[in-house]
Amino acid sequence: MGTLFRIVLYAPDEASAQSAFRAAFDRVHELDEALSDYKPESELMRMCREASRHPVHVSDDLYRVLEASQKLAEQTDGAFDITLGPVVRLWRQARKEKRLPDAASLEQAGEHCGYRNLVLDQAAHTAFLKKPDMILDLGGIAKGYTADEVIRLLQERGIFQALVAASGDIVVSDAPPGKKGWAIGIDSLDSPVADFTGVLTLSHAAVSTSGDTEQFVEIEGQRYSHIVDPKTKIGLTNRLAVTVVAKQGIDADGLDTTISVMGPKRGIAFIEQNPDAAALMVNINDKNQGPPEVVESSRFKQLRSR
Ligand code: AMP
Ligand code: MG
Repeated sequence: MGTLFRIVLYAPDEASAQSAFRAAFDRVHELDEALSDYKPESELMRMCREASRHPVHVSDDLYRVLEASQKLAEQTDGAFDITLGPVVRLWRQARKEKRLPDAASLEQAGEHCGYRNLVLDQAAHTAFLKKPDMILDLGGIAKGYTADEVIRLLQERGIFQALVAASGDIVVSDAPPGKKGWAIGIDSLDSPVADFTGVLTLSHAAVSTSGDTEQFVEIEGQRYSHIVDPKTKIGLTNRLAVTVVAKQGIDADGLDTTISVMGPKRGIAFIEQNPDAAALMVNINDKNQGPPEVVESSRFKQLRSR
């Protein structure tokens, strides 16, 4: 998935910790083989090559992530869109070469996108692609799902106090011994919210952060995020640092990417509809000098004052 996974856990003894780590990283590896778009032979990439000819039966893991992605796409009129693969690849190339993708290539890539061109059949457990040369990209949601699965596997092995972090996507189970929860610092914000230190104390929760602080390309003074607006096919330029807290990593991860695209107003309104989610959005646009604009959902306010 193009990232590092970090696992922290409490176990009764070193041997059980070691065997838990082994099993957990094996599961990460298994999900990487299923969901990664960086690996030509992952289940996802093999499916993409075949599924425009006929529906392809997919594994439970892949199906769950595809289904959650499509649900989010439908709820947001396609702000979250895993079919942007061909466009995301052009932007990845642009980051490497530090030049903008040309308009003709973007337009051509855009013709092979659109979440409505991915058709899932729940009964048959298949995926079908209505157009050739489509590439699905689960980079906005797969890390959260993988973290969920590792937490679940650890619980099955009797390990209830754990943290799994895949760069900006973190899932935690029970609090560490003697603590109220896991202290999760929210970076890049320098605590722009009055009376908030920037640290949340969480258990049984997922936190995802999204933004352009790490992955971006700057061309002619404009900064383009690795998150693409499906309507324009252009990397976001709105300079938002987004934090979402939810019960499950798959939700927190999917939502952080989604509300980045939606922007603060629509994004927070969407989060308010979900009783399990909370969000903080900081507009770090350095062009309008003054202090950063901060918006938070009502449940985020509750979380930080706990
Ligand atoms: P995240 O860091 O969770 O916000 O995910 C960002 C990644 O999601 C990007 O690197 C792309 O692989 C993918 N992506 C970019 N734009 C979108 C979008 N509009 N919808 C879904 N996934 C996207
Ligand atoms: Mg995400």
